[in-house]
Amino acid sequence: MEPTVSNGSNDTFDAIIVGAGVAGLYQLHRLRELGLRVRSIDAASDVGGTWYWNCYPGARVDSQSYIYQYWFSQELIDEWDWSQRFPPQPELERYLRFVADKLDLRKDIRFSTTVSSADWDAPNAQWVVRTDGGDVFRTRFLISCTGMLSAPKVPPFPGHDRYRGTVVHTARYPREGIDLAGKKVGVVGTGATAIQVIQTIGKEVAELKVFQRTPQYAVAMRNPQFDDADRAVYKARTQELYERVNSTFTGFDFDADHGSWYDATPEERREVLETVWADGSLSMWVGSYPEVLTDEAVGEEVSEFVRDKIRARIDDPEVAKKLLPYHYTFGTYRVPLELGYYDVYNLDHVELVDVSEAPIECFTETGLRTAAADYELDVVILATGFDAGTGSLSLMHITGRDGVSLTEEWQRDIRSTLGLQVHGFPNLFTVAGPLAPSTAFCNMTTCLAQQVDWITDCIAWMGQHERRTIEPTKAKQDEWVQHHDETADATLLMRTNSWYTGANIEGKPRRLLSYIGGAAQYRQICEDVKQSGYEGFRVEA
Ligand code: NAP
Repeated sequence: MEPTVSNGSNDTFDAIIVGAGVAGLYQLHRLRELGLRVRSIDAASDVGGTWYWNCYPGARVDSQSYIYQYWFSQELIDEWDWSQRFPPQPELERYLRFVADKLDLRKDIRFSTTVSSADWDAPNAQWVVRTDGGDVFRTRFLISCTGMLSAPKVPPFPGHDRYRGTVVHTARYPREGIDLAGKKVGVVGTGATAIQVIQTIGKEVAELKVFQRTPQYAVAMRNPQFDDADRAVYKARTQELYERVNSTFTGFDFDADHGSWYDATPEERREVLETVWADGSLSMWVGSYPEVLTDEAVGEEVSEFVRDKIRARIDDPEVAKKLLPYHYTFGTYRVPLELGYYDVYNLDHVELVDVSEAPIECFTETGLRTAAADYELDVVILATGFDAGTGSLSLMHITGRDGVSLTEEWQRDIRSTLGLQVHGFPNLFTVAGPLAPSTAFCNMTTCLAQQVDWITDCIAWMGQHERRTIEPTKAKQDEWVQHHDETADATLLMRTNSWYTGANIEGKPRRLLSYIGGAAQYRQICEDVKQSGYEGFRVEA
């Protein structure tokens, strides 16, 4: 189907949704069901969101496919067959296109269009949304479904202009790919994305230099292919899985439900750790003991368990030493799954360049220069992550009541109410916004669907009660931020520098970006707000 493009129109809607990925598609469907006039806007040329943009080599999901799906339509579940436990990006993208086709969503989506500003027009109780295509739209509700990880972080290495090779960020990888065969390739970063790139291109390239600042505790993925019998088994479990993911701490179908670490013998602990390790999923991270993320001694023991697994994979002890993390404990930096990642370092043409002591300084004409050496590279792949949580919202230049800028507010202090609304910004809803549970501690589809449902119910309620605006009070927001911080401070996560705490972006205020009180508890808190008739929210006719 031909995507629509901007043509500079003026129009008024009940709701504008920004983003046409997992959350945005479902939000569009739900609001259309309410009979609202809705327009979605997306910078991409088609649906997919994260799965549209992250088309780098080796990209794949690390939630099991049969729980990374929409649950609201039996027809969608019946008609879609997953090929494997952790499918690659093209399959996820195909799934979202299939959903868009089935629900006929594209006709309400404006593709290849970026929101350039959104201003609250108080007298008319409307958002005025401008796009790079010259559109000026008016809407009662503005809903961002832009994803937690969608604004790429590109390190400002000087000399970019003089470099004669190719530079690409993984989240803007060319859709037609890059021919890397026989090339000298540098990968900057060793996070979840880089790991997928490195393990995929390692054998194909002539030389690979991996520029590592922080090593990871990557867990070996087990990724069986599915046949019809496997699919019949998971499809028969649909209701059970649906109930399970909506009741666990992280929205996965497993939980840290082996009791307390301290009630177990060393043999029992070992057995549990070996079991979750063998599962080859994120259950190694959030499916053993709750103390892994809260108790330093337990965190350290589990870290050593994982280090042993890594050590066993590396031939050269010096390389192994560099690949082992020691200054933070397992699980406090988002755990990546790997498929052959560590084996790449046993290849002669692969070099691990430690840039923790000798950082990358600049591009040269022929490659990258660190404080210790020059490296000749034909292609530099920046797997350097994202300005998480706040990044994409900040880029929209949103101004709320009294002309307050959301970007400036969040440069000072990142605050929200349930991650769903922000005081001072009436009728703005944020799915996977800062301080909600999302990518960090949740199977995304579980948490996104729950937040979309809450927003939809809220908008329906406002229609039924003839209310025009809703906004959290300052007191309600303070209460949520305090609860969020207390929950975060009770864990080991705040001690680790990563995108979780905003530490990957210079000058970003430090706060855990995702709620860590558990997806089920969060769901209950949201439900209580709804049942109370939105107590703590200023609702006006
Ligand atoms: P990331 O975890 O933030 O990793 C970025 C990497 O780039 C880090 O190793 C970082 O080092 C490095 N880096 C950044 N600036 C640098 C510089 N100036 N010099 C050297 N190194 C630099 O980003 P990501 O790997 O894109 O992953 C982000 C999140 O996306 C993941 O945590 C996960 O939630 C999600 N993700 C999911 C999947 C999946 O489901 N399959 C796959 C990929 C990503 P430092 O750590 O030292 O800053």
